[in-house]
Amino acid sequence: MMLPVPPAMRAAAAKSPPPMKTVVRRIKFESELDLAFGERVAERAYGQKLLSCIQCGTCSATCPLSHYMDYTPRKIIAMTREGFKDEVLNSLTIWLCASCYSCQVQCPRQIHITDVMYALKREAIARGFYPAHHPIPVLARSFYERVFAQGRNTESRLLITLYLRTNPLVMLREAFLGFHLWRKGRLSLKKESIAGRKDLRKMLNAVEHGKKEEPL
Ligand code: SF4
Ligand code: SF4
Repeated sequence: MMLPVPPAMRAAAAKSPPPMKTVVRRIKFESELDLAFGERVAERAYGQKLLSCIQCGTCSATCPLSHYMDYTPRKIIAMTREGFKDEVLNSLTIWLCASCYSCQVQCPRQIHITDVMYALKREAIARGFYPAHHPIPVLARSFYERVFAQGRNTESRLLITLYLRTNPLVMLREAFLGFHLWRKGRLSLKKESIAGRKDLRKMLNAVEHGKKEEPL
């Protein structure tokens, strides 16, 4: 004789089995690393001292932005030295670095951490690794375009371009503040420019098309 199956057990059996968890390898084998990457970055960031990092963490403790970074400055230095090229070039850290130089000043090994961040940022741009709608690279590019065209930056126009290229909804949210500043004469919509813009463009073009850095 078959015993009746309790309703709770029947319901549990009717449910589809839980999906199997994907197993992801969380380490990298040495063969997957670019072991000479650290040395190449060190050369570009003024000296081999990068390789002498003692991982004391002073840079991370000093950095005002380390709480927001995916890898702290200490980790970036370690990963760069060990050849985690893709990880550091795709990290948010290099874009959050505000180039304040605090870490560099405090580092007991005088490692040029800020210059390492710059070198990584330039390399990420050259490889097109920067996040498309992340405000910092967009701001840098928009600022450059404005200076290239007019010789000067107009803050209000730069902000409008930035919001349109990243998140137009933020512009709606900030519109009232912008209006308030404009009414008080603190924000001008008037395009600012300089005389001799042609000469400036010539100079900027020469820099842009001048000697390119070898890829790291
Ligand atoms: S402060 Fe200098 S030595 Fe210490 S972890 Fe940072 S880079 Fe390395
Ligand atoms: S230079 Fe960059 S990494 Fe160094 S403390 Fe300033 S924000 Fe942090």
